[in-house]
Amino acid sequence: QAKRFGGDRVEPFRPAFRDGSANVVQMEADLHRAIERGQISLVYQPIIRADTGDVAGFEALMRWNHPRRGDVPPSEFITIAERSDLIGDLGAHALEMAAMQLMEWETALPDAPVFVSVNVSSHQLVRRDFTNQVAGILARHPQRTHTLRIEITETSLMQNPEQNVRVLERVKALGVDLALDDFGTGYSSLSYLSRFPFDVLKIDRSFMQPVSTGRDALLKSIVDMAHALSLTVVAEGVEDEDDRALLAEMGADYLQGFITGQPLDPEAAAALVARQVPAVSGNDQAAE
Ligand code: C2E
Ligand code: MG
Ligand code: MG
Ligand code: MG
Repeated sequence: QAKRFGGDRVEPFRPAFRDGSANVVQMEADLHRAIERGQISLVYQPIIRADTGDVAGFEALMRWNHPRRGDVPPSEFITIAERSDLIGDLGAHALEMAAMQLMEWETALPDAPVFVSVNVSSHQLVRRDFTNQVAGILARHPQRTHTLRIEITETSLMQNPEQNVRVLERVKALGVDLALDDFGTGYSSLSYLSRFPFDVLKIDRSFMQPVSTGRDALLKSIVDMAHALSLTVVAEGVEDEDDRALLAEMGADYLQGFITGQPLDPEAAAALVARQVPAVSGNDQAAE
């Protein structure tokens, strides 16, 4: 087995070179066929209310089940897709699957409205047809009580801020919620970001690592500032009860992370929502 080398030095005839570079080319070719071959799916990570622990919605995370490699992490294949423009098809597929899922849950669980939040890369936003694509998806899979949400990272947003603000305003007008993902990993201030029509701010999970003594104060100030700008706060990367208690005390609205376990397949996610549907009113009615 060829050893893996970091960096980007070009050293032909070395097995490592052939391995690394050929892999990307092969992966890209495989990715081209992945959708039609049914290898792309979404898993759903619960996003819970910080005060009650109830499930409010899910983040949809894309998975590629490669016939030989098994599960390829999105950190690998999304990058390949963005470089090769495949991201347009992949991203549209994710939105379509999420909207279909929402419609299914809305029919099955009309009294338990949830949102599904789909990651969108800047490469998708800048495509001329993005707004129409979303409008088409919503027309095919209309939602009444459940909500489609899209999330965009701060770094992604800043690649084309003027154009992105216009696209986001149009998408929001369609009834889609907007979340700013991985807040704190870029260098933009919250006041600058308030020019964008976001509903939700997601604090990056790197803040959950207990690195410095100033961390808690920083977290608290992000929560307060977000609230002052009328943004709902989701804290990412919440792994244990200490994190949960801390964030609940700070007033974070929602939590997401391994505290609820690994992301779920659609059936498990639906079962989770079904379990917390409140029993239909009336004392005479036995709760299931
Ligand atoms: P993200 O949007 O910030 O998604 C959260 C990532 O953090 C997920 O990794 C999730 O599994 C992981 N995570 C969640 N809770 C915890 C925790 O408590 N501790 C730790 N250590 N990790 C946690 P995943 O699924 O590998 O996704 C990585 C990234 O890939 C995502 O980051 C997102 O930027 C991108 N991605 C995933 N699906 C899609 C997609 O459909 N479209 C696009 N454009 N990007 C996607
Ligand atoms: Mg995300
Ligand atoms: Mg994130
Ligand atoms: Mg993150």
